[in-house]
Amino acid sequence: MVYLICALLGSGVLAAICVPLFRSDNTLESAIIEETEWDLLQRKKEVLLGNIQDLDFEFKCGKLSEADHTQIRKEMTTEVATVLEHIDQLEKSLDLDVLIRRETDSRKASAKPKSQISCGTCGAKNPPSNKFCSECGAKLNRS
Ligand SMILES: [Zn+2]
Repeated sequence: MVYLICALLGSGVLAAICVPLFRSDNTLESAIIEETEWDLLQRKKEVLLGNIQDLDFEFKCGKLSEADHTQIRKEMTTEVATVLEHIDQLEKSLDLDVLIRRETDSRKASAKPKSQISCGTCGAKNPPSNKFCSECGAKLNRS
């Protein structure tokens, strides 16, 4: 009896560990794919902002004339603005992708119960992998 309880507890714990693992694995994979372009843009933005800081620093040190500083800074700011706009667009399209993926996933999930087998004895729905009814234990007939 103790062994049985242990086995039940063990399998329960195992299922509790495994189920979230499989789920997080899926989302992690798609997150990696989605983040690469976004990450690149973020890095570009940081580099550009760093360049502007360097430019300001060089101007303060007297290495640049005010005209040069103003001109280069204007060009850099425009570039940053373009990158920021890119990030914004990407984030919007990412949201849409995530929404579409969720939609298709939920459709796949809701399509599954159709292949379930109805028990001939009690009428309970059973997954196709079941040989016996999970409700009453009767043998399931596959037609
Ligand atoms: Zn049944």
